[in-house]
Amino acid sequence: MTAENATASASSEPAKSNNFLRQRIEQDLDAGAMKKVVMRFPPEPNGYLHIGHAKAICLNFGLARDFNGECNLRFDDTNPEKESDEYIAAITEDVKWLGFEWNGEIRYASSYFEQLHLWAQQLIADGKAYVCDLSAQEAREYRGTLTSAGSNSPHRDRSVEENQDLFARMTAGEFDEGACVLRAKIDMAAPNINLRDPIIYRIRKVVHHQTGDRWCVYPTYDFTHGQSDAIEGITHSICTLEFEDHRPLYEWFLNALPVPAQPHQYEFSRLNLNYTVTSKRKLKRLVDEAVVAGWDDPRMPTISGMRRRGYAAASLRSFCEAIGVTRVNGVVDMSMLEFFVREHHNLHAPRAMVVLKPLKVVLTNYPDDQVEQLTGANHPQNPAMGSRQLPFTKTLYIDQEDFRESANKKFKRLVLGKKVRLRNAYVIMAEKAITDEHGNVTEVHATYDPATLGEDPPDGVKPKGVIQWVSASEGINITVREYDRLFSAEAPEQEGEGDDGFLTAINPQSFVEHTQCVAEPTLGNTEPESVFQFEREGYFVADRNDYTKQRPVFNKTIGLRDSWAKQDS
Ligand code: ATP
Ligand code: MG
Repeated sequence: MTAENATASASSEPAKSNNFLRQRIEQDLDAGAMKKVVMRFPPEPNGYLHIGHAKAICLNFGLARDFNGECNLRFDDTNPEKESDEYIAAITEDVKWLGFEWNGEIRYASSYFEQLHLWAQQLIADGKAYVCDLSAQEAREYRGTLTSAGSNSPHRDRSVEENQDLFARMTAGEFDEGACVLRAKIDMAAPNINLRDPIIYRIRKVVHHQTGDRWCVYPTYDFTHGQSDAIEGITHSICTLEFEDHRPLYEWFLNALPVPAQPHQYEFSRLNLNYTVTSKRKLKRLVDEAVVAGWDDPRMPTISGMRRRGYAAASLRSFCEAIGVTRVNGVVDMSMLEFFVREHHNLHAPRAMVVLKPLKVVLTNYPDDQVEQLTGANHPQNPAMGSRQLPFTKTLYIDQEDFRESANKKFKRLVLGKKVRLRNAYVIMAEKAITDEHGNVTEVHATYDPATLGEDPPDGVKPKGVIQWVSASEGINITVREYDRLFSAEAPEQEGEGDDGFLTAINPQSFVEHTQCVAEPTLGNTEPESVFQFEREGYFVADRNDYTKQRPVFNKTIGLRDSWAKQDS
């Protein structure tokens, strides 16, 4: 994609691509199959949402919005041991932050547990479900394999009455966890293993975050999902491709039960990004092993991590639109996401001057106690963003990287005996370097040319470079947390040994904290989550959790240019 194209699509709302789901919905509406489109986003509250979920959110809420329909937010909370209110709160916040509004109240599959339990009893009464006492190990053996049929459980032909009695006793808590399960009676020889008498209810003696101790049997995800869609009148139930093989089961339950609506399931390919992992289980490992500082660590590919890192919600939406929707699995390049992050901030972030590694510069010909208020435009291309005052004084800081005692012509910054322009200020000339006993430069003495404010030097010799600076007495101390990609390998999941191999691919340079940075005063008087371009350094955000006016903390969102771009191309 060219930068120009992307500017056009990200500066307004993203352009609508004509994907297969959109076409399907159009056909259904044209054919009068439904009056209104009803979608849902159905997270399990067992972790924080990640960039892959952002794709599913943009898709569900975006389709509903574009077709004047509705989208529900429903927690598919069938796994109480792994779920928590913390996750519910975080997910809810993330969906809102991404810019979407759900229809009505937040919904919970657990609020349909009474109905699901009645439907399970109905399957039993219809001879379509039975209580099975096989152990997990035995059940695996009876299930067969991809190439061989399974065999019937010895409990498959229990009478309706016996099944009713056993299920009532399961529900009353008479049996231990794992003693028995309720299974749908479908076909142990079905080529699709999902249809080989799947479990629909398990005994779980755990308290549920929504239903408390009301239940000690819980419906499985497969038994819950489609019926919840039907209860809510969902028209198009979209999910990722790994559920394709579950679709026949989804339909079997809807046909076997007197559900109030007939939703349809459609699958699309999940988003995979290089240089990261998008599995809640693996992300949880990173948190539990303290590899990162939490789910919202700015290096995490979670929505809350990216938010804290300073990614704009609009950038995520533009990215999700740009990657499109297909049924082909692939891996998207991280630099594409980063492109949209830069692109948004380049347009919207005010500029600021910050020195990450300060080196003192004394202007020997500048009046001792003078403080001059210079002005700097907040955005070089957008005068509507206004300007701010930049106090200029005799003693300044510049970055250590911006000074050399001697250098060749390629170095367009400050060199002894040469000139450089201070951004928004004067041209200065370096006269003398003061060094410590190790030969490190600790201070530079320079002279300034008073005739060069907004003007070229009178001698006509223009300095080649422009560098940022901060007044030593008027500037403020800030902490800058420099973040980079969390993994240094392109495919972290293929690194190391086994399931935890991805932990060996952590980028050791992904987090460096600088506590001695100096910044122009503006940065001590902003709000958490404000993003700035630190000139010549990149985009930085006032940390959502830790920024205070007393102790300003900024996170590096991203550099000005892609430092990961392949060198050889
Ligand atoms: P994970 O595999 O990370 O544990 P999940 O699929 O179990 O994720 P859910 O909470 O069930 O997580 O996901 C909610 C919705 O988001 C589902 O419809 C799921 O298909 C979708 N989703 C999850 N991961 C991705 C992804 N990488 N790309 C697109 N959609 C995704
Ligand atoms: Mg899932």
